[in-house]
Amino acid sequence: MKIFKFGGASVKDADGVKNVLNVMQQVGHENVLVIISAMGKTTNAFEEVIKNYFEKSPALQSSIQEVKKYHNQILLDLFDDEEHDVFYTVNSHFEDLEYFIRSNKSPNYNFVYDQIVSFGELLSTTIVSAYFNENGLYNNWIDVRNLIKTDNTYRDANVDWEATQKRITKNIKKNTLNITQGFIGADDNNFTTTLGREGSDYSAAIFAYCIGAESVTIWKDVPGVLNADPRYFENALLLNQISYREAIELAFYGASVIHPKTLQPLQKKEIPLYVKSFINPLLAGTSVSRGADLEPHIPCYIVKKGQLLLSLSSLDFSFIMEEHISEIFALFHQHKLKVNLIQNSAISFSVCIEDKFNNFMEVKNILAKKFKVTFNENVSLYTIRHFDENVKEIVENNKTVLLKQISRETMQIVTKE
Ligand code: ADP
Ligand code: ASP
Ligand code: MG
Repeated sequence: MKIFKFGGASVKDADGVKNVLNVMQQVGHENVLVIISAMGKTTNAFEEVIKNYFEKSPALQSSIQEVKKYHNQILLDLFDDEEHDVFYTVNSHFEDLEYFIRSNKSPNYNFVYDQIVSFGELLSTTIVSAYFNENGLYNNWIDVRNLIKTDNTYRDANVDWEATQKRITKNIKKNTLNITQGFIGADDNNFTTTLGREGSDYSAAIFAYCIGAESVTIWKDVPGVLNADPRYFENALLLNQISYREAIELAFYGASVIHPKTLQPLQKKEIPLYVKSFINPLLAGTSVSRGADLEPHIPCYIVKKGQLLLSLSSLDFSFIMEEHISEIFALFHQHKLKVNLIQNSAISFSVCIEDKFNNFMEVKNILAKKFKVTFNENVSLYTIRHFDENVKEIVENNKTVLLKQISRETMQIVTKE
């Protein structure tokens, strides 16, 4: 069995959905499980709904209507017959959403978040599945919440591998085309959970691992994994092949083309990952596999924006020792701050961190009781794998460098902005 994953960009409008059908017809659809994300920027739109809900804003209803209108337009563009069942199914998802919003009593932001954003994936898969059926690509729509079981860490749930493996083995029909949602799962009480933003790639890897799939293909709006983020670097080049190790390093440091959690389950079972273009599906794209040499062997540039550079030094000139460092890291861990770079000297300690859950100020106040704290907000972390002498010109030009660290294969540079 092969696993395909189509992201939001591939199904952002009716033409996108038609193209996905086209891709399936070109590359073959037998024995495939297709995982689909929410259409376009739907998850962001639902985040707006959630914000309005918690702020009790009068814009709540209009923000829901906007998501409804967007999906309705796609339906109208895809289906001639407005009596088609898919209109009713989509509408019933919105009724469920509105019912939740009316009746919810939980003040837990993360819980509410997951119950709401997950409709993005339910809607997209409902529409794509119906469109495929309408066009002769008969498929089996699966509610992934019956298969991917997680703990109840809402917005960042951890997979219960044993339960998930059991359910996938028991319920996935082979020899048919299956369509299901990325990004979402369910906890023991059957409440919806999510695997972290951009988590649909990871869903593909979970299925691949549990099924023992032949391969995973993630279909993108780029030709494959490039040696630089095309949004920030000119002349990015396609990497034909890379190892799992290289892919993990690139993804971890911000090559957002692959979600970092995706690689580990695949690597464990040596399931190859292909990153391909949904615009040119017959091109080879990038192949990620065990021990593959980086081909071509060129420097890779990655950037993570919106980081924090935090420096701590002791108040009395004493050394910052292991016990302090372990205390500091425990604090980061408790507050879900992700550390992307570490540098220390005798009496100071610097880290580049990411604060996805807005906990930094709280942590800073705790640290300020023990250390002298300085920090820069909104800095960029550049990671260059296999760097060469061009780094200066490509990265450092016109930027204020705050910190630099070099190891054998990797150079990291923190710059203002
Ligand atoms: P999806 O539609 O699956 O969610 P994303 O938009 O998350 O896809 O990922 C594809 C995007 O990742 C590309 O459009 C590109 O802008 C960005 N990107 C960042 N780094 C890289 C890289 N090294 N190679 C290719 N694309 C990259
Ligand atoms: N729809 C989710 C998001 O936008 C998951 C994904 O696209 O991978 O974060
Ligand atoms: Mg994405």
